[in-house]
Amino acid sequence: MPHTNKNTNILIVDDEDGVRDSMNEFIQMAGYNSIMASDAEEALELLKKISSDIQVVITDIMLPGMGGLELTKLIKRDFDSDVIVMTGYSGDYSYEEAINMGASDFVIKPVRLEELLLRLKRVLKERDLTKERVRMMEKLQRLAITDGLTKLHNSRSFYSQLEVEVDRFNRYKHPLALLLLDIDNFKSYNDSFGHLEGDKILVRISQVIKSCLRKLDTAYRYGGEEFTVILPETSCEEAMLVAERIRNVVQSEVFLPETDNKISITISIGATQYAENEELSTFIQRADKAMYTSKQKGRNQVTALEADDETVLKA
Ligand code: GH3
Ligand code: MG
Ligand code: MG
Repeated sequence: MPHTNKNTNILIVDDEDGVRDSMNEFIQMAGYNSIMASDAEEALELLKKISSDIQVVITDIMLPGMGGLELTKLIKRDFDSDVIVMTGYSGDYSYEEAINMGASDFVIKPVRLEELLLRLKRVLKERDLTKERVRMMEKLQRLAITDGLTKLHNSRSFYSQLEVEVDRFNRYKHPLALLLLDIDNFKSYNDSFGHLEGDKILVRISQVIKSCLRKLDTAYRYGGEEFTVILPETSCEEAMLVAERIRNVVQSEVFLPETDNKISITISIGATQYAENEELSTFIQRADKAMYTSKQKGRNQVTALEADDETVLKA
């Protein structure tokens, strides 16, 4: 939201009463709120008190005690305000120095008030644009890792998070488990009640999965009607308990795709634990194989498969 003048607060820092007062008056006439400080220490106190509500600080460079450049550095380190620096003609301080400290602009004294106002407006405008850009970037980043329908993380984020967790495993050797979940006979549900009703199932089941997870666990929409759950610090046995809980809650949910037609949905789950030095794809495939075993055994169940079991199976 762009700032209106009324909720824009400007802090003026100058030790010369006359300069400070006339700037204060002018800025208020332009419709902004302004407050004043006569040195850097007082300015920092005010910033601490009102912190995020001061958008721009206009400070003289030459101040008794801490100078304006040092003040600028501290403001940029500790607060979210923009800084406009004022300096005398002497040329002791350069534009470059002020900008390097993080100042957004630089004016030469004696300050022409009209010019100061123009610069202030430009700094405020850039500030709004920057904030808008940051918001957009954050939104894009969220969108890039979120599945639009279920709001779970998407499969891209699954692969990157699994990589992170495997790296962590390699460092600490704490167990890491994975669940793969697939809705049973979902095609026939879609065929009977339509794709939109099918989508509602995906959304509800995603909520159920989330509600059954513990703090560190994360759920992903892996594909169409398939989900994964990464369970850090979790053995295969513990993962099976989580999986059983999800399976149970899903089967007890009642869906009503048509009036007077209560339908239950079930899911088949595969659980497995990461084995040292194995490829990510091997790990995922084992969860998939475990899930497929649940399907073969009649659906609506949880199967665990450990790396050793697989070796035995292969042998
Ligand atoms: P199984 O128990 O063996 O898993 O049977 P199934 O019917 O669930 O398996 P199959 O893989 O044959 O079908 C999956 C179906 O999931 C196909 C498709 O209609 C449905 N599906 C996949 N993605 C979506 C989606 O985004 N929305 C809806 N509504 N349906 C989807
Ligand atoms: Mg499937
Ligand atoms: Mg299915």
